[in-house]
Amino acid sequence: MERRDFLGALAAAPAALGLAGGRMPEDAGRGGGAAGGERSTRGDYLAWSAEERDYWFFNAGDGLDRLRRLADRHCAAADFRELARSASGLPVYGFRLGSGPRPVAILSGMHGCEPSGPRGVLAFLDALLGGARPFGRPLDAARLLARLTLLVFPLINPGGAERFALHFPDSWHGTWIPDWNDANAARFYAEGNEPCKFFYGTYVKQAPMRFTPDQIAQWEATGHVIGSSMTDQGLDMWFDWDDTHGIETRALKQILAAVRPYCVLDFHNFMFPTEVFLPTIPSASYQADESALAAAIHAEWRARRLLFNPRPPRGYPKPPEKYYEDAWFHQIGARCLIVEFNGGMLATAGAEYEPIPGMRALTRRESLESAYAAACALAEALA
Ligand SMILES: [Zn+2]
Repeated sequence: MERRDFLGALAAAPAALGLAGGRMPEDAGRGGGAAGGERSTRGDYLAWSAEERDYWFFNAGDGLDRLRRLADRHCAAADFRELARSASGLPVYGFRLGSGPRPVAILSGMHGCEPSGPRGVLAFLDALLGGARPFGRPLDAARLLARLTLLVFPLINPGGAERFALHFPDSWHGTWIPDWNDANAARFYAEGNEPCKFFYGTYVKQAPMRFTPDQIAQWEATGHVIGSSMTDQGLDMWFDWDDTHGIETRALKQILAAVRPYCVLDFHNFMFPTEVFLPTIPSASYQADESALAAAIHAEWRARRLLFNPRPPRGYPKPPEKYYEDAWFHQIGARCLIVEFNGGMLATAGAEYEPIPGMRALTRRESLESAYAAACALAEALA
């Protein structure tokens, strides 16, 4: 396969890419100024699975390095571009794989405190490009890439991921917050959502969930950083798909509107237990397709004995105002699924929570496998 311009639709949307040449400067994403080698260090005392070793990056810089190295090893098989830079200068990367007639998009890492999706997507890319078999689960890359054109955006809020790693050095809550009690829940929400409570008295987000530069300056004067669920600009991308303000959201919208994917899969990673959701506002045109795709993901998880909520898929709980992401995907003609992997915590406070007998929090390895398996199942169901 020849190296091509990223996205055939770019002729119609030349502004869709942030950099004219498409390649990134050598130091892009290497927070900390490392010389390009492995940044991760994993003590030998840690019982890492092979998949955690290969795909569980510790912070955004580490993850961006790994994505760039993977792209460099397979530059003939995938277009790899920097779509935008966050306000702190971290790149938002996109991969384009395959030449099939059906475009499919995968987004992950919208919220920096939700680490499993980006790592599972890295595993998925390695299986497609490098022939890896994470968790013993192969992919027929030749077949999939002949039928699909995959647009993969592995870490769409790199600034949030980097801040998350400041507070959770292996980017996994479960290591550092062993119990889901009230005090630890407050720490969890503060890390992700402040300065929400600082200004509004609650960690519960209110649409459109964005802070002004003046508010951010006030918050940072207290010695704290913006919550990791938000971008470097202090907004939550989930609420940013109508009157878009965010650098990262704008770049993604331009590409997705130009390509008009058949389906968008959006990985999140907070609630308990793991669940696949339909979009917030149902669409009679797409609901049957979306339900069938959700069933394919369920079947994959069931076969792999991964825990999840097996109920028929429901719409994502609707916020009181109109700001939410998934209605926009329907507007551009895409089926959409939102997948919430359990992130190793027993968070039961959200409107999404449903108690299921026998459930427990997933381990880091299980959470990573859930994300990898969901991407595999969706791609195979659509090919
Ligand atoms: Zn999320």
